[in-house]
Amino acid sequence: MSTTGSQHKNKAATLGRIKCFISRGPLSKNPTQLNKKCDGIPSFASQLYTETLPFTRLEKWKLPGGNGSWQKFPVHDILSEVFLPANLGDKFGPVWSTHWLKVHFNLPKTLEGKEVHLRFSSGSEATLRDFQGSVLGAFSPDFRNEYIISKEWSGNESDIVYFIEIACNGMFGGGMIADNLNISPPDEAFEYTLQRLEIAVFNRVAYKLLNDVDVLYGMATELLETDHRGYQAMYTANEMINLITENKTQKAGQLADAFFAEKNGDKVHTLIAMGHCHIDTAWLWTYDETIRKCARSWHSQLQLMKDYPEFVFTCSQAQQFYWIKKYYPEIFTNIKEMVKQGRFIPVGGTWVELDGLLPSGESFIRQFFYGQQFFQKEFGMKCKEFWLPDTFGYSGQIPQILKHVGIDRFLTQKLSWSMVNKFPHHNFIWEGIDGSQVLVHFPPGDSYTMTASVKEILKSVTNSQDKGRVNCGAYLFGHGDGGGGPTMEMLEKLRRVRNVDGLPKVEMGTPDKLFEMLASESRNLCKWVGELYLELHNGTYTSQAKIKWYNRKLEQFLMEVELIMAIAYSTDCALQEEEFRKDLHLVDKCWKRLLLNQFHDVIPGSCIERVKDDAWRIYKCVWSDLTKLQTIYNNKLLFGAADNANVPVIFNPLCWEVTQVICSSSAIPQSVNSTVQTVVLDDKCFDEEEEGRKLPHKFVAVLVKMVPTGYSQVIPVEPSLPVTVRKTTNNNTSLFNMSNGKLNLKVETLNGIPVESLALVSSRQDYNEVEVFKKDTKPGMFYVFDDVPLFWDSWDAMDYHLETRKELECRDTSGPIILADGPLLSAYKWSCTFGSSSNFTRYTIMRADSPILEYFLIIDWKESHKFLKVEFPVDVLAREATYEIQYGHLQRPTHINTSWDMAKFEVSGHKWMDISQADRGVTFITDSKYGWHVRDNVVQLSLLRSPKSPDGNCDMHKHYIHYAILPHEGTFQSAGSIRKAYEFNFFGANDVSILNVDQDYWKRGMTNMVTTDNEAVILEAIKVAYQVNRALCIRMYESFGGSARARVNLGFSATKIEECDGLENPLDESKYVDTDGNSFQIRLNPFQIKSFLHSFDNQSFRDAEKLSKFQEILSVETGGGNNSDKIKNFHLKLNHFELQCDSDKLIKHFVNFNTIGFPNDGYVTINEDLFLAPESYCVDSLSNDLSEVVIVTCDEAPALPKCCPWGKLSRWLHPELCKKFENASENLNLNENLLLRSKISESRHKFYWHPLNCINENKMVETATINLYNQSELDGIIAQLIPGSFCFDDVLVSHDLKFDWQKNVALFYCGQSWPYNEFGVTNVETVMYGGCLSLSAVFLLAGIAVYAIRLKQTHCHIHTWIELFYMISLLSLAVFCILHINFPEDHLDFCSLYHLFSVFGYFVSAIGVFTWATLLSLELFLAFKDLRPVVGLGCKQNVKRLIFNAICGHFFPLLVTCCTFAYSFYWKNTGYCVNTDLAAVRIILAALLVVNTICFGGTLYLILRHRRCAMLAVDNKSTQSNQRLNQL
Ligand SMILES: [Zn+2]
Repeated sequence: MSTTGSQHKNKAATLGRIKCFISRGPLSKNPTQLNKKCDGIPSFASQLYTETLPFTRLEKWKLPGGNGSWQKFPVHDILSEVFLPANLGDKFGPVWSTHWLKVHFNLPKTLEGKEVHLRFSSGSEATLRDFQGSVLGAFSPDFRNEYIISKEWSGNESDIVYFIEIACNGMFGGGMIADNLNISPPDEAFEYTLQRLEIAVFNRVAYKLLNDVDVLYGMATELLETDHRGYQAMYTANEMINLITENKTQKAGQLADAFFAEKNGDKVHTLIAMGHCHIDTAWLWTYDETIRKCARSWHSQLQLMKDYPEFVFTCSQAQQFYWIKKYYPEIFTNIKEMVKQGRFIPVGGTWVELDGLLPSGESFIRQFFYGQQFFQKEFGMKCKEFWLPDTFGYSGQIPQILKHVGIDRFLTQKLSWSMVNKFPHHNFIWEGIDGSQVLVHFPPGDSYTMTASVKEILKSVTNSQDKGRVNCGAYLFGHGDGGGGPTMEMLEKLRRVRNVDGLPKVEMGTPDKLFEMLASESRNLCKWVGELYLELHNGTYTSQAKIKWYNRKLEQFLMEVELIMAIAYSTDCALQEEEFRKDLHLVDKCWKRLLLNQFHDVIPGSCIERVKDDAWRIYKCVWSDLTKLQTIYNNKLLFGAADNANVPVIFNPLCWEVTQVICSSSAIPQSVNSTVQTVVLDDKCFDEEEEGRKLPHKFVAVLVKMVPTGYSQVIPVEPSLPVTVRKTTNNNTSLFNMSNGKLNLKVETLNGIPVESLALVSSRQDYNEVEVFKKDTKPGMFYVFDDVPLFWDSWDAMDYHLETRKELECRDTSGPIILADGPLLSAYKWSCTFGSSSNFTRYTIMRADSPILEYFLIIDWKESHKFLKVEFPVDVLAREATYEIQYGHLQRPTHINTSWDMAKFEVSGHKWMDISQADRGVTFITDSKYGWHVRDNVVQLSLLRSPKSPDGNCDMHKHYIHYAILPHEGTFQSAGSIRKAYEFNFFGANDVSILNVDQDYWKRGMTNMVTTDNEAVILEAIKVAYQVNRALCIRMYESFGGSARARVNLGFSATKIEECDGLENPLDESKYVDTDGNSFQIRLNPFQIKSFLHSFDNQSFRDAEKLSKFQEILSVETGGGNNSDKIKNFHLKLNHFELQCDSDKLIKHFVNFNTIGFPNDGYVTINEDLFLAPESYCVDSLSNDLSEVVIVTCDEAPALPKCCPWGKLSRWLHPELCKKFENASENLNLNENLLLRSKISESRHKFYWHPLNCINENKMVETATINLYNQSELDGIIAQLIPGSFCFDDVLVSHDLKFDWQKNVALFYCGQSWPYNEFGVTNVETVMYGGCLSLSAVFLLAGIAVYAIRLKQTHCHIHTWIELFYMISLLSLAVFCILHINFPEDHLDFCSLYHLFSVFGYFVSAIGVFTWATLLSLELFLAFKDLRPVVGLGCKQNVKRLIFNAICGHFFPLLVTCCTFAYSFYWKNTGYCVNTDLAAVRIILAALLVVNTICFGGTLYLILRHRRCAMLAVDNKSTQSNQRLNQL
């Protein structure tokens, strides 16, 4: 190697020289900063751009609204907005707003053949778009400020126009980020400045050399002390500089090439480099901005892929892909192509990169369920690895959950952030709490945002904890969040280090390749058992309490709604497939929204206030959707709730029987000898609407027994152990005891503060009571800690906070006041003010027959950097405490023997945690808290924190916190703690929902859907299967940590049961599970999760179930007795049954056929002794959902109208049938009620009979039905049949009317069959107008075609939009017109409402004519004057073409409008009012008129809004027009 001259240099001087040489360029992080030490030493970086050109014109436009408003403005609209003049130095703000720049450049011919870049800098993120709005490139403040216009400019096009969409936020949110890591809330008033916007000529030769020297410099600095290779790199770089100074750039380049061509040995360590861009789905910015961040980042990656064929990019989170698909379809199409090529690689398989600790087990599974579904659907592939580089700890159940969804690889790295202990592996086998094992890799560079520097590459080798065991590792490079992912510079550098002596091999590769290499060496790997605990960020178990509360409650709500829908599905309560699928889709949507908020900066509470607001809003939407679904399916299952509903019913989603005192604000009837207690709590604290939650202060408590997974009637049960309160006074200290035979609570007051002591009444003979807490302590007392973390405010609780524990200093205490004293519930309250005017009221509650002591805390939290905890010094000796996690539990030490134990000073747990010694212990239960600290025997539950960044108002509001203690004998398993924790979460609140069901309907509790006979087995998900029709998916787990055999009993008959995975794919190895149809046997290992698919084709089941329901109803209606023999051939699938009833018994019969499975659109045929009298109609009971059947019987046969003349067309079409029918009607032997018949005849009302419906082969009058469409129509029908009152306007009875004349049987039923539209077209006028209309329609289509072409040809969007509005308007008028024609000539009375509509229609038509005429004249006038741009009517075009456009675009539609108008006018004058008889048609007419009105309104709006659009309504090339405009 030539190193001429190098020997004269010393190390420090040479390195200094090289550093200066590469400084100040785009390669150094801050290009504008001059390195002072390099003054005078030539910097080669300044030669990167040889020539710059300013813009010729710059304009700006501010998008109205702030954060997220960009979604409301289509890009095409923005392009035609009125932009105002702008210049460099202009400010853009405030934070979260969006501004658009329109910039013109004039490129001279001299640039031909040169590489031309656009350079932009505003300190904010921005998107570059072309004149049509398509995304071209992206800018991020620190890392991407250039866009390559062309690598070799053709020199053809001289004028270029670009649009730049400036998003007023930086990489880390809005405004300036505070200097330390303690990220402050966004500075919302901050403004960004346009610093640079120019065209520059790029010197690619210089760029190559700079990258060469840069990499050499990296090697020189990093290898100098250890390796000769470092010196070689240094001397090579130095020599290159010498050559470059002499202008021998080619030679310099060759020198570098030769150096980088010197290869490594065979066994050198290999790094698999993967491009990555970790985009937090919301964090210091909102979800809305994330969408644009993804678009900018991913588009940049697609651009790089064109130039770097080796480049591979990994990308996680289905949600983000979904957003791009929705908002940037062009980019998504390109991504799809690259996914196909295996270069853009979806990874992770989850919906979002979720938090690793807080979501429930089911949520974890659904993250994969929905994530993999998306990847499969869009890309035809599933991710093979779990990818979660950035979360704050990893649950010990993750390995099994991964296995359950078919994944056995996991990539993460966050444990490198641990503060105390360095995790001993980068590659290992991770074994979860159940023994499942997955292969784990932590990229040994300890980062997922590396930048291709030599330093990081070497760190990825030296830092590896598995040297000698594994010879490869991942190298994830690319700027995250707004940084835009990998850059050209990174890819350039990686090309140089692919295989160069002195460094490891750095190959571009896929996760698949990495894990395959690791798997081949996995025999060498160590095993890690249990959770991966991050020794940092443990304040995130508590921050943003409300988000956590919502998450817990909605996870449970979803479980409940899915179960209700599964019951409805399997019992087939007349679900309409399409509607049901829609509702299932809504459930999916609810899940996805919940999963979104489980993102690893949202649910942990480490987000800004705006994100919190978004999260709450999303939760409220989910809540309301689920409430809607719950109501729908409860109604379906419980036969609807009629007005006189008086049977209280409760739903239990848990798979075991629950007997508990529940509290509800619903009225519960008190039966004899049973107890219902009314409780009134403090009315100040409750009843406030806090974030959608309203807790009643007055409610009833009742002890009920609830069947598993089903509905039960609320029948008050007498408690075997009522709760009592006994007051005593002892030496001026007020004292009282609260006891329920299981617990004995003694409350003493000390300085106004209640001090509690709790005893467990022992079941053992030799003891009476066992004290639960240590003597002379204050169990349940609140403590406040100083909470000032070193680094990240919302994230961290540092261990030293424990040393600042202070008992709450209460002011203005009130209480304890006893509010309820049994027998079902007793409660006392205590309230006080503390700190900076925070205040709380605590209710201590004990229920009858319950081993639980509850606390309900309402707290208004106003502190700053304080941590609030409640403490319980338990009287047990336990070295470990047990915490519930996802689908299981694990133990953590209560001591601090080792640094690993010590680091776990704040840990997470779900619904419960337990501390026990061999014979007894205490379980603590919460409804939404996750943070725990247990040291020795003292348990602290973390309640609230008050960090001030990044959300300055984090948790500063009212909180409702519910927690409980459950002292027990024996183990927590034997004490039933786990199930109690579920019960507490589902039935603990005082607003438990109770449904009221009609007495007649509620005959028995619904079948228990699914139960097990083993207490350890818990069924947490019972849902309709995703892929398989007529199947349910049921998921269960073993909760005790032991082996379990259980029989699972089903409330429905399964034809086939097969085991499946978490994605609901049947397991290959599984054969069908043995089942007797109603139960099956399972075996579960400790903590094992199993899912099963249950198919239930069983028509027979459904029929049998319905039949039995039908019989029950019938039995009631007929006053008891078995009617089963009267129901024949009950076959619902064929929509048919025969019913035999005695007319003297059956007085009134009312069946919801929906409930028993009739489709809404079928016919019901009754052939036996039933008859119907419309007079005794129970019209009131008819519901509006058109789903019910009314069968009424009475003693007398009703009058039945005779069939009347048909429309002329019908007669003409079916003369024979008509004849036959008429004869048949005449010949019928009607023996009664002729009076009514004649009355009807007098009233001149006519029935239109449709022959095809009337005549049923030869038995055309065997049966009778009247098809009704809604209640008002039904009223009309009855009015027809009852003499003396009629109002026939709205009713159509012209078809589907069938009577059994001989047997006097008629059946009325409401269905959804669409009204038959009878054509009685006979009069000449109508035909004439039809012809006229057809001609107009042709013109209309011609006009539309012309506009479609124009829309494509021009960019004059405003004009085109106006025209489109007219098009729609005209189209609707045309339809209106068509509807006029299609009615029979047998008209009925003039109808005033309809008249009103018609007049409105004429009015609208008249305006249309006027507007069109004006527009046409204007257009023609302007066309001749060439002034069109001035009024924004379009582009500059030649006159001939304009006239053509005007005629096609205006004249023909005008003609149509005129025709419509004339036609309408004629009809009005003839005095004809069409007898529509069709309510539906009316609705359509009304809708059309609304559309018309909207179109006119929209047009007006567009014209007003764009009145100045002359400035803009020219395409980018028509500069001449602009000049003309400027003159004007
Ligand atoms: Zn992150």
